Amino acid sequence: MSVRQAMPVQPADVRAHNFKEVALGYTQEQAVAEAERCIECKKPQCVKGCPVNIDIPAFIKSMKTSDFDDAIDKIKETNSLPAVCGRVCPQETQCEMYCILGKKEEPVAIGRLERFCADYEREKGVKAPQRTTSTGKRVAVVGSGPAGLAAASDLAKAGHEVTMFEALHSAGGVLIYGIPEFRLPKDIVAEEVDYITQLGVELKSGYVIGKIKTIDDMKNEFDAIFLGTGAGLPNFMGIDGENLNGVYSANEFLTRVNLMKAYQFPEYDTPIKRGKRVIVVGGGNVAMDAARCALRLGADEVSIVYRRSDEELPARREEIEHAKEEGIVFRLLTNPVKILGDENLMVTGAECVKMELGEPDDSGRRRPQVIEGSEHVVDADIVIMAIGTSPNPLIFEGATGLEKSKWGTIIVDEAGMTSIDGVCAGGDVVTGAATVISAMGAGKLAAHTINEYLL
Ligand SMILES: Cc1cc2nc3c(=O)[nH]c(=O)nc-3n(C[C@H](O)[C@H](O)[C@H](O)COP(=O)(O)OP(=O)(O)OC[C@H]3O[C@@H](n4cnc5c(N)ncnc54)[C@H](O)[C@@H]3O)c2cc1C
Repeated sequence: MSVRQAMPVQPADVRAHNFKEVALGYTQEQAVAEAERCIECKKPQCVKGCPVNIDIPAFIKSMKTSDFDDAIDKIKETNSLPAVCGRVCPQETQCEMYCILGKKEEPVAIGRLERFCADYEREKGVKAPQRTTSTGKRVAVVGSGPAGLAAASDLAKAGHEVTMFEALHSAGGVLIYGIPEFRLPKDIVAEEVDYITQLGVELKSGYVIGKIKTIDDMKNEFDAIFLGTGAGLPNFMGIDGENLNGVYSANEFLTRVNLMKAYQFPEYDTPIKRGKRVIVVGGGNVAMDAARCALRLGADEVSIVYRRSDEELPARREEIEHAKEEGIVFRLLTNPVKILGDENLMVTGAECVKMELGEPDDSGRRRPQVIEGSEHVVDADIVIMAIGTSPNPLIFEGATGLEKSKWGTIIVDEAGMTSIDGVCAGGDVVTGAATVISAMGAGKLAAHTINEYLL
């Protein structure tokens, strides 16, 4: 039995006070040793767990002989964001879930190997990509998150003239404004975005489609359009006190920390409230990120308040374990019913109730039910809501005939085409909040569909 190489990490008591990367990456020796665990099965299953179809067996084989240049070339044949995916993809439910080794022991650490190759290349200096001869076709990509970046990359490689419109001042979507520096350093995202612009993609930032220009306008200017505008509109619970001073949506809180660089205090004096006692409502990756950021900004106590039990927490296990090690308190089977404030409308805490799990609901998860008489107060000066997001409806303004579902997501066919001919969509704006790699897969599918449509 071969033992999976452990990922070196910053000690929990140190990293809880800094924004530097938690996972430090494999050494060259570890990377080769881990690659050697791959048994080169005759019918490898791992690739079917990768929405962007990386030739996983081939790149790992190259790593066995330390040919990391060849390994990264193989990864980049289908994935333009390897340093990102190697860090944040939930590999345990994707490629690694299909690894044959996983039946008897731990699967090959495919994500960590991908990260190693991307970091190896970055340290050496990334080769500028080759540009393709222009087809003369113009394609607009709206949104520069993983879906938009993957679509733009494949469309540019096919020779189309791609213009990417982004509402914010920096490209990357959630990768730049949501996922914190300690999980995904921003200079790494910026370098992977640069690689895509070097393919010839023109980036227009600070450009809100639906306001400055509409899809109806763009149809006259472009031969095809891809919509990858994500699901960045935060949901709230609709309970009393949510408009008190000190209540944030996780998106706003994380945007202030990441995009507005509160993590670089005092270099940047970002307007953000630094709480001493912080409650984060929710149990997904977003909740874990918000909680761990609040801790690093100097809170004495940060609690996750989640209405189901540990087993149902939707965040990646690794993130939950990291949060626990850092001292985040988990108030499970607990739900806030009211946010409390003082006479100056500042948050003072949350009234919560205890929950128990009943029969499974439509999602298959056991339905949480309130335990009568379990009301109690949790003190706090900040409450962060991380209970999900929806697509921003702005994109539908001036988009005649663009059909949406009752959840506000854009409806597409199996090829990613919307109800408007020549307009494709993909990523969170179609599926609702999902994952980086599924958004990238949808971007690539749409690029393929647009290619066929144009040529
Ligand atoms: C805090 C957080 C942590 C996460 N952690 C993980 C993780 O560890 N692993 C993982 O796989 N997934 C994670 N996710 C989910 C993942 O980031 C998303 O599923 C993914 O980013 C979706 O990609 P997208 O391109 O569809 O949308 P987004 O990344 O949301 O990008 C959409 C872009 O479109 C822009 N835009 C929106 N409307 C307009 C408009 N009208 N005009 C112009 N531009 C517009 C937005 O500004 C944004 O930049 C996390 C999400 C969050 C919020």
